[in-house]
Formats: sequence, C-alpha cells, structure tokens
Amino acid sequence: MSTSSSYWSDFAAKVRLPQGMWIDGRSVSADAEARYALVSPRNGEVLTQVPSATSTDVDRAVSGAAAAFAAGSWSRISPRERGEVLIRWADLLETHRDELAVLLSLEMGKPIAHSWLIELRTSIAVIRWYGELADKLLDESPRGRRDSFAVVTREPLGVVAIITPWNFPMTLSSFKIPAALVSGNSIVLKPASQSPLALTRMAELGSAAGLPAGVFQVITGGGGITGRALGTHDDIAALTFTGSTAVGKKLLTYAGESNAKAVSLELGGKSPNIIFPDAPDLDDAITTAAWAIWFNSGQMCTAGSRLIVHESLRAEVVTGVIDRLSALRIGDPLDPETDYGPMVSEQHRVDVLTEIRAGVDAGATLAHGSTDLPDGPGYFLPPAVFTDVDQNSRLAQHEIFGSVLSVLTFGDEAEAVAIANNTQYGLGASVWTSDVRRVHRVSRALQAGLVWVNCFEEGDASVPFGGRKLSGHGSDKSIHGVDKFTTFKTTWINL
Ligand code: NAP
Repeated sequence: MSTSSSYWSDFAAKVRLPQGMWIDGRSVSADAEARYALVSPRNGEVLTQVPSATSTDVDRAVSGAAAAFAAGSWSRISPRERGEVLIRWADLLETHRDELAVLLSLEMGKPIAHSWLIELRTSIAVIRWYGELADKLLDESPRGRRDSFAVVTREPLGVVAIITPWNFPMTLSSFKIPAALVSGNSIVLKPASQSPLALTRMAELGSAAGLPAGVFQVITGGGGITGRALGTHDDIAALTFTGSTAVGKKLLTYAGESNAKAVSLELGGKSPNIIFPDAPDLDDAITTAAWAIWFNSGQMCTAGSRLIVHESLRAEVVTGVIDRLSALRIGDPLDPETDYGPMVSEQHRVDVLTEIRAGVDAGATLAHGSTDLPDGPGYFLPPAVFTDVDQNSRLAQHEIFGSVLSVLTFGDEAEAVAIANNTQYGLGASVWTSDVRRVHRVSRALQAGLVWVNCFEEGDASVPFGGRKLSGHGSDKSIHGVDKFTTFKTTWINL
C-alpha cells in the first residue's frame, strides 16, 4: 500500500465514480431517472448523483436474476467452474485494490489504510475462500435402512436478496455474496444509500471475472422504497440482511406480508469487553479496549462499547484507554497516517452527539470527549469515554454506533457475566484472563455468538459470524454461511 498522501489524493481526484446500477451485466439508470446526491463525509461535498431505484427497477433486477437462474449458465455449471470464477473475481479485486479502497474512503469516510489493509483484504479473502470451497461441499447419504438408499442434496434457492449497511460495505456484503453464488443462486443486492460506489464497481469486476449477466445485480436507492420493494417481492426466495435491529424487524414483517421468504439477520450489538485482574497482559488489554471503540469511528456492530473492568483495575484501565484515544491521529480519510476518520453523515454525527449529551444529563461522568461539535469541514466527532455508568442506563443499553465507551466495574466473576449479559443484544464479547478454566466457564455463560479470549474482533473466513437475541440469527462466513442460501432435498430409493 502506498504511504504517500499525495498518491491517494491524486488517485481520488481521478477515480471513476460508477454512475449506474448493475443489472443484466451492464450499467443502467433508474426507470424514472431519479437520483440522489451522494455526499462525502470527509468534506461534506457532493461526490456524485446515484440512481434511486423504484419498484419497477426492482422488478427488472429480480426478473433478470430469475431469467439467469433459469437459463442455467451459472446455476447448472459445475461447482468447480463456479469456484474458478469466484477466484478470478478475487484476483481482479486485488488488481483493483487501490481503486476500490479510494471509493470506500470517499463514500463513507473510512481511513484509506483501513479500507486497503482491512476492508479489501477481508473481502478478497472471503471470496477466495468460498471459491476454493465450491467443489468441496458434499451431499449426504444417511444409512438409516438396509432396504433403501437415500441421498440428501443441497439445492440453490433461486433469486436471493442481500441488503447491507454502510459501515463495512464490501466486507459485510462479501460475507454473503460468494456463499450465495457458490451453490448457484442469483443475487440482487442493495447497498446502503451512503455506500453504493465500491459495491457497484465490484459488480462490474464480477462480470469481467465471468459472472454471467443477471447473476449478480446491484440496485441503488433508499431503504424505504428500494429496500422495501425487495423485502416484499414475491419472486425472491430468501433475503439476508445486515443492519439495524429496527430494520431487521421490518424485513420479517415484509416476508410475512409477501411470500414468506426465508430471512436471516445480522443486527446491532452492545458488546461487553471484560477485563479480569489476571489478564495476561494488561497493557495489551487496554490498547485493545481503546481500539475496540475507536476503530471505524466506533461505527461497528461489534464495537466493544461496554468495558467491564474489575474494580481493582478501574483507575489504571480508564487512564490507559484515555491516553490511547488522545494519541489518535484524527483527520482526512485519504491521508494514510489517519487513524480516525469522520462519521458517515452529518445526521449520524448529530445522533451520536445527542447520546453523549444525554449521558451527561443522566449523571454519568464524561471522562474524555466533548459535548460540542469540533470546528471545520467533515463530519468529525472525537471519541468519548463515560465512567460511573449505571448498567441499566441508556448509555449502557442503547447501541450508539459511534465512538462512545461506557466503563462499568465488577467485583467477582458472576457479577461480570451478569453485567455482560444484561443487554438485549448478543453479538460479540471479549474476556481477558489467564485462567483456562475461567475462559471456558465465562465463554459458556456469555450470551453472544462470538467470544474472543485475550483479543477482540478476531476471526477469518473459516468461522461463522453472527449473533443471538436482538443481534439476529443465521451465520455469515464459513461452511455454515451457505445454509441460508440452500435447501435440502431428500431422494429416497427403495432397493
Ligand atoms: P440500517 O439503517 O438498518 O440500514 C441497513 C440497510 O437497510 C441499508 O441498506 C438501508 O438502506 C436498508 N433499509 C433501511 N430501511 C429499510 C426498509 N424499510 N426496508 C428495507 N431496507 C431498508 O443500518 P445502518 O445505519 O446502515 O447500519 C448500522 C446498523 O447496522 C447498526 O445497528 C449496526 O449494529 C448494524 N450492523 C450489524 C452488523 C452485524 O454483522 N451484526 C454489521 C454491521 C452493522 P438505506 O441506507 O438506503 O437507508
């Protein structure tokens, strides 16, 4: 990756911004020619105008995807051939890594180093992993009876819809796209309004890699019209969503009002990060606790927003976290030295600031941060740390989706687990301890889909990612990521 700031700003000045949606293997505008302004959070300037898909456009995308599925040029080729296309696609994304990273940083404000090193690396790795999996998925032949032979095959569903958020536009979409394609489905994907560019470019590169027309469609537009039209569409067999719990609940309703399509949900979180007195490396725990709330400007479903620390460590941990946050380089996302970029939009920045002000009004101590907006262009909002937080207060319960940390204390293990589980969410959780028995006890007791021990936010393509409670259901990544895009068929033969 280039470490020259001028390289990235020159690149950004010249980069082509995709102008259309990607339907039937080509760029198209919306039926009604409607467009919305895409604003860059780095300076508040309009980047480009993006098509707003109507329900007519959604129909067009879904019928194109259905026609591609029926034609069989993807759904009925060999799994190995599908895998080869996915691997070629991963290679092409690697070749275009700078371009895609710049699009991400322009549209949603992620620091370029994180776009390039983290978002692109993860997206490419997951697509490649599913490409390699393609011909290794096995059918089953259970041995229930001697007088018969049964085979259980996995079949694709047909047209599936994917709706994703803006905080990791490519990564979170890539957790789903190859898992749907690997068994032969066609996809209609709607990115978040704030982050359509990198995904549309990714679709163009998918066609160049060999995805037949109609197999991967990207439609752009607002959730209320475009997203709803997908959610209520009768010809979509399954919908998988990553986003807020509120919208996830709506999608379940849309499914019930339409064709009862299968819905899988990756939703919000309020992840606990528990530091016990026997943490193997307190310095590492402190650095990681700070990172878990500042990374991506706190706009992470898994953000470690509740730091649950043993009362004996409180002073040292709070001071250490604030030191780390004070040292962050906050600035232009196109500067490779930048750690911490802007919030995605002015509205989101105001929403997060409102939560900080409400926390102060409710009596918690604002140990770091401010209740005022910083001056200057761009939607910047530095991190905030609260102490003296009541575990039942809004600060400790509500997903703020910004860099706002609540520090809570505990006396013993049972209390730590009780505080950690005192949330409607169940996405990630982290535990810092040297005691292997405590690791297993606490991991079993935590109501979360992901438990990290002496680390935070680790994983790779081979392990499932998903939550429980109001954080959703179903898993992305790993061999289990395929389940929501396939259905089992039993063929029974009497011998
Ligand atoms: P969001 O408001 O729920 O939006 C997510 C997606 O849903 C966007 O594409 C949005 O389109 C669309 N949408 C909005 N209203 C819709 C409707 N009525 N019907 C169909 N689609 C609709 O979430 P966000 O603000 O983008 O992202 C933040 C949330 O995502 C947080 O709660 C975060 O925790 C969660 N998240 C979860 C995970 C996970 O893996 N569990 C990962 C990342 C983020 P528009 O953009 O056009 O509104």
